[in-house]
Amino acid sequence: MEILKTINLCKSYGSAEVKVEALKNVNLSVKQGEFVAIVGASGSGKSSLLHLLGGVDQPTSGQVIIDGTELYTKSEEELALFRRRKIGFIFQSYNLIPVLSAEENVKLPMLLENKKVDEAYLEELLDILGLINRRHHLPSELSGGQQQRTAIGRALINKPSIILADEPTGNLDSKHSKEIVDLLTFSVKKYNQTLIMITHDLNIAQRADRVVKIEDGFLQQNEVSEE
Ligand code: ADP
Ligand code: MG
Repeated sequence: MEILKTINLCKSYGSAEVKVEALKNVNLSVKQGEFVAIVGASGSGKSSLLHLLGGVDQPTSGQVIIDGTELYTKSEEELALFRRRKIGFIFQSYNLIPVLSAEENVKLPMLLENKKVDEAYLEELLDILGLINRRHHLPSELSGGQQQRTAIGRALINKPSIILADEPTGNLDSKHSKEIVDLLTFSVKKYNQTLIMITHDLNIAQRADRVVKIEDGFLQQNEVSEE
């Protein structure tokens, strides 16, 4: 079953002589439960695509459809709600709240929804992420890797149906990278989630069900067989 697709998605930044065409007619279809790795050179448009898939930017033209809903016809408020309920986003730049502790940052999506935190799941996440002893620290008191793992916890806490991850292991050593990908793939299986991950790491890309490549704003992909 298809959970996400883009139709002729285009994104450009700036105007006239400084215009950058970051995405050019991208057509991507992802099935529920699939793990798709996105690879490509720096500046090729990977983050631009992920942001549009996650409803955190506006396309120049084209559509993003998730679970049959077209994202960019929604109002900003509707979109924010949809995002919070359906999507776990791990940003390249973490986007942690500086005045909240690691644990509070992880719990934030639940608190914003007035939902009860699954305490057992919270403990499990903090444990796997190696944050038990850092849970009361502020982001400024955490290493880059710990901040990244906090951002991962925040993306997973509400068991979203789609996880979008922008180089989630970019700041981690190979041991921690493997643990993070183990955690993400475990979570995906257990909760029947869909994972779309940008990575530079070919060992990680190899673990995906499918690898798509972006080159200068164009999506290169092998034909996906219909099921
Ligand atoms: P990647 O994640 O593959 O490194 P990006 O999607 O971040 O690539 O960027 C694609 C292109 O769009 C690059 O040329 C980049 O400089 C440009 N770009 C990205 N974000 C912006 C922005 N906010 N304003 C202007 N140009 C941008
Ligand atoms: Mg990027």
